[in-house]
Amino acid sequence: MNPSCPRCGAGCSVKYGRYRRADDAQSIQRYRCNQCTKCFSSATFTATYRQKKRRLNRLIEMDIASSTAQRRIAKNHRCDRKTVARKIKFLANEARLRTAKRLNKAEPFDLLQWDELITFEHSRLKPLSVAVMVCKRSREIVAYGVAQIPASGTIARRAREKYGHRPDKSGSMRRQTLRAIAPHIAADAVIETDEHKRYKREIQRVMPTVTHKQHPSIRGSLTGQGELKRTGYDPLFCINHTLGMFRDNIKRLTRRTWCTTKLSSSLDDVIAIYVSFHNSTLI
Ligand SMILES: [Zn+2]
Repeated sequence: MNPSCPRCGAGCSVKYGRYRRADDAQSIQRYRCNQCTKCFSSATFTATYRQKKRRLNRLIEMDIASSTAQRRIAKNHRCDRKTVARKIKFLANEARLRTAKRLNKAEPFDLLQWDELITFEHSRLKPLSVAVMVCKRSREIVAYGVAQIPASGTIARRAREKYGHRPDKSGSMRRQTLRAIAPHIAADAVIETDEHKRYKREIQRVMPTVTHKQHPSIRGSLTGQGELKRTGYDPLFCINHTLGMFRDNIKRLTRRTWCTTKLSSSLDDVIAIYVSFHNSTLI
């Protein structure tokens, strides 16, 4: 049966020739609605409708999850860097849908690890926190969240002088992330974390039946992207290794890089793409 008209909804469309799409040389069927006389095609109903460079979608997705700078992606694929930026938005939305679908299909998780990594937007004086939850059995990333936090340590005063008060939104982000993943976690699950003071209460509030296990914090080693620890046995190896993979595979999270996040929403997009790639391809 021919598809219904996307404009008036009538189901009386007829075939109306074909055209060869310039973008990927595919032959596309066109239709004409007998009620409103408007034309459409089988491409009208796809997520890539009106895109001019469909063939770049998968390539850019792979590059973003393989530590390549956006400008270099543009050079490699001979497109503009604005095209890459637009593709990232599109790919991130696709990736979020894929990740949600995957979660809905998966069995409830029973052994998880939960931790954060610190990065920044625009300047080191404006830090961001990325919370990540990973399944210890499959190494799958099941949840993440991004939020702004105030600068701490020696740069805290300079940050306040330059950019004013920066509220700590990491708590609400963590609660929101926990609430979103809670339906996919088994009632008798175990969540392992480091000795962060606020994790215990946050986890207990959202998931009162879950067992929370804390392990002492250990200093990171430089060769492990600051995430893997200088010790023989690390009880939190799974989450630390995943955060190490974040740092190695997402260009802007690499230590001592000059590629930086300018907007936290863009960091969220890039992480969404990486998470989907990590879960489907890397592990
Ligand atoms: Zn119509």
